[in-house]
Amino acid sequence: MKKVLVLEDEKSIRDFVVLNLSRAGYEIIEADTGERALELFDASPDIDIAVLDVMLPGIDGFEVCKSIRASNQKVGIIMLTAKAQETDKVTGLMNGADDYVAKPFSPLELIVRVDSLYRRVMMMKGVTETPVSKDELSYPPFQLNTKSRILTKNGKKIELTQVEYQLVKLFMEHVGSAFSREEIFKNVWGDSFSGDKHKIVDVNIRRLRLKIEDDASSPTYIQTVWGFGYRWGNE
Ligand code: CA
Repeated sequence: MKKVLVLEDEKSIRDFVVLNLSRAGYEIIEADTGERALELFDASPDIDIAVLDVMLPGIDGFEVCKSIRASNQKVGIIMLTAKAQETDKVTGLMNGADDYVAKPFSPLELIVRVDSLYRRVMMMKGVTETPVSKDELSYPPFQLNTKSRILTKNGKKIELTQVEYQLVKLFMEHVGSAFSREEIFKNVWGDSFSGDKHKIVDVNIRRLRLKIEDDASSPTYIQTVWGFGYRWGNE
């Protein structure tokens, strides 16, 4: 379920936001103060997006944003700023907000921004809108989505080159299987090459290890099979 926290002290605006986001398919959690929003956020760690008004009676929206961001990098945060306050959007983005919507806004404007941020949040989490699918390869703490070609480790995206992606995919599709350098080369680069295949494989494995291993000098995911090649995992 797509879950949104809506923080707004003015009831008419809050109702307007809640109504429109509910219609767009979001489950809403409402708060009228920053303090309450933080309580609700702690109680529901599965919130995907927080829509935060800036001007509030107690702690303001920026403080709420900063505080949420300190404990959660993945949640999407949109600030509701006053149109006259150009500095609000800068302050918001500096405090960790992802986007802002200036008041007054139309339902469409709001939904477009929330939808697009929601998609980004899901990409970051490495899941598609249908989380369990054949496009997902899982080897905790890794998730590889073969549709979006995104690899995450503990939910954090790891930037891969296309070659590195092909290597990870090959390994994650065959956990525990040892591949010779020849086989790896053929799978990733194809047949038409006459250079030093072993060296190319080794260099790329080394580079990939730097990105994915906890400690690239003693790799635990991509294991070396001495005199042969490489294998993903221990078994
Ligand atoms: Ca307000």
